[in-house]
Formats: sequence, structure tokens, C-alpha cells
Amino acid sequence: MLRFGTLILLTCLLFETRAQHPPVFEGMRSDTTRIVMNDLTVNLVRYTYRTPKIQFLAIHDDEDTGVKAAFEYIRFSGGSIIDCQYGGSRNFRLSNQGERFQTDPNSIYTKSGIPIGIQKYGPVDDDVVKLMDRAAKTILKLYNPEKLGYILTLHNNTDGDFGISSYLKGYELETTADSLHINFSMDPDDLLFVTDPKLFSAFKKENVNVVLQSEKAPDDGSLSIYAMKNKIPYINVEVQHGHFDENLRLIEIAIKVLFRTYPEFSQKAAE
Ligand SMILES: [Zn+2]
Repeated sequence: MLRFGTLILLTCLLFETRAQHPPVFEGMRSDTTRIVMNDLTVNLVRYTYRTPKIQFLAIHDDEDTGVKAAFEYIRFSGGSIIDCQYGGSRNFRLSNQGERFQTDPNSIYTKSGIPIGIQKYGPVDDDVVKLMDRAAKTILKLYNPEKLGYILTLHNNTDGDFGISSYLKGYELETTADSLHINFSMDPDDLLFVTDPKLFSAFKKENVNVVLQSEKAPDDGSLSIYAMKNKIPYINVEVQHGHFDENLRLIEIAIKVLFRTYPEFSQKAAE
């Protein structure tokens, strides 16, 4: 009995760690693009329901509230999400010729940013730089912002560590932000981050926490820097872990504002 119980418990635990994403509902399609970097495998799982009008991208595998909220959005309105899955951690970790490396997957989108990202965790290796560059290109090819016209990403943060106030004068991300608008009735950890002044003004009118990235923001290899360099309007819906309802509300506002500001984008995901 005890053994059987232990087995069930173990199975549940295994299932728990793997089943971090919401179950795929009936009619939802999925396909996987695999990136193999030595001993690290990243699965780009694309979930699609109905004819998609919107396409999301989630690049940190330990941030699930955004993915769950996107699934809920897609269930009612259709859409598609590319979810990067590599074991539920934040960083890419891999070996190369007997040495261990890691980097934040949101630091691999520019040539100059890749080594800066790797250096935060140890020495830089040319092979690893090349692998990261290739991974970024594969992710971008699948998401295809050139075709969509935009980048819509989902991130989650931890209570109090990072929020709209991180961008205020004197705080760590001051140089990253050009302008910001704060709704003081919202949790400061729940915000939209954009690279496009038109979207910034439109979100301001919706009275939500919103940050406009500065044109002088340091190149840290992040997707928002890539987007700015390539003049692709970028929206990050960044919400505290577990704030599911607020995440869904901000996703709905993000899509409404994106298509109102750029009506030509509203059919691109379906093409
Ligand atoms: Zn993130």
C-alpha cells in the first residue's frame, strides 16, 4: 500500500513539474520546433486555436501566468502562442567542451548583447555566442515579426523586485525608460512596456501602467532592443506571478490598443 502510495505521489510530482502549462483544449493545434544546443534542448511549442488574429511569444520558461492568461484569451478569441520550453527555469544553461555556461534567453537578440549576457554568469566562449545567435534567429524566424508587424511578449515578475518604479529617476532602470505613466490604483508590478511612442500614448489614454523604452536604452541583447533597432512596435505585458485576472485584462487592452493603433496588423497572424 505504502509503495503504491509513494508511486502515486511520485507520479503526481513528476506530472506537476512537467504540466506547468495549461492543458491544451479541444480543437487546439500544436507544433514544435526544436533547438538543440549541445546538452540544452529548447522546444518552441506553438499552440494555435481557430484562425489566429494575434500571436503571442513567451520566452522565459519559469513565467507561466502570462501563458495561462494567453490560453484563456485564445480559448475565447482565437490566437496563437509560441512558448519556449526548456525545463521550467529562467536561464539557458548548457555545457561546451566540459565547461558550464548560462545566460538569460532575453539577452540573445543582438550581436553585441549576447556576450554581455553570457558574461554576467562567467567567461564568454565563441561557440556559445554562436549557439545563442542561432537560437535567437530560430525563435525570430518562427515568430516572424516582419510578417506580423509587431512583437507581443508575455513576462511575469516577482512581487516588489521589479515594477514600474524601477524606471523612475534614481532607480536601476532609469536609463531604459523615456517616459512612463503610472496608474496608482494598479499594482506597480503590473505594467506594459513598449518601444513605440504611438502605442505609449494610446496606453496612457487607457490609464494603465506603461513604460516607453528610451532610444538610448543600453543594448543588453533583449528583444525590446532588437525591436527598436528594427523599428518593430513591441509590447511586453509584464505582470506579477499569479496575477491571472490582471494579466488577462492587460492582454485584452494590449490587443485592443495594438489593432486600433495599427489596424493593418489585425489580419497578419492569420495570413
Ligand atoms: Zn520574463
